[in-house]
Amino acid sequence: MPKRRPDHIPTRTCAACRVARPKREMDRLVRIGDGSVHRDLTGRLPGRGTYICHEPDCRDPERMAAAVRRALGAEPAPGTIAIEVNDAAT
Ligand SMILES: [Zn+2]
Repeated sequence: MPKRRPDHIPTRTCAACRVARPKREMDRLVRIGDGSVHRDLTGRLPGRGTYICHEPDCRDPERMAAAVRRALGAEPAPGTIAIEVNDAAT
């Protein structure tokens, strides 16, 4: 059984602000087979993924769309990446 260092926290880099943060503070967005972009609530969707942090600036729909376009090469359909700020409480 592998030892886990208690201080080890996996981090991901935000596609919008490029800051690395703990994975649980990020939302994963995935481009699936048909080219559409979805928010991955389970962290298990297959496809190419990127992460967006919870900073209000990064939640700006235009900035988020630009980040997704850059990271995934896909244009998110309006509404698909709408993320409610109060989701962060969960
Ligand atoms: Zn960010």
